[in-house]
Amino acid sequence: MSEPVDREPITGSCLCGAVRFAVSGRLPGVGMCHCSKCRRVSGVASNASLNVSKARLTWLAGEDNLQTFALPSGWSTVFCRTCGCPAPHLTPDGERVWVPAGGLDTDPGPRVAGHIMVGSKVSWDVIGDDGPQFDEYPEGG
Ligand SMILES: [Zn+2]
Ligand SMILES: [Zn+2]
Repeated sequence: MSEPVDREPITGSCLCGAVRFAVSGRLPGVGMCHCSKCRRVSGVASNASLNVSKARLTWLAGEDNLQTFALPSGWSTVFCRTCGCPAPHLTPDGERVWVPAGGLDTDPGPRVAGHIMVGSKVSWDVIGDDGPQFDEYPEGG
C-alpha cells in the first residue's frame, strides 16, 4: 500500500534541538494512546503519535543522542538524552515508526485518527473529538 506524497517534508525536533527529524509524504491522522505507560511517559492524559512507514523518516541530527528505555514486555520509549523529549521510534515489527505528534515543528493539520486503550483512561481524561475509540489495542499488541 503506497502512501500519498506531498511536496515538503514535515520537520520535528526536541526541546534542546539536538534531535531533529523529517517525515516525508502526507501525514496520517494522530493516534492517541490512553494506557498507563503512555500516560507516564508523556505526563499527560494520552500520548499522540503518527504511525508512518520507516522509509518516510529521515534523521537530520542527533540520532546518536537518543536513549531507549524498554520494559520486559517489549514496550519501549525513545527520547533525547539531553532534554528528555520523546523521539520517533520503531514499531515492534521494525517496519514503521511512531513519530511524536507534539514534536513536529509546525502544525501540518492532521486530524485525530482514533483513540486506543480507552478502557485504561483516567477520570480527568476527557476525549473531545469524534475519532473512533477502542478499549484496548486494536491489533492485539
Ligand atoms: Zn533534546
Ligand atoms: Zn500506550
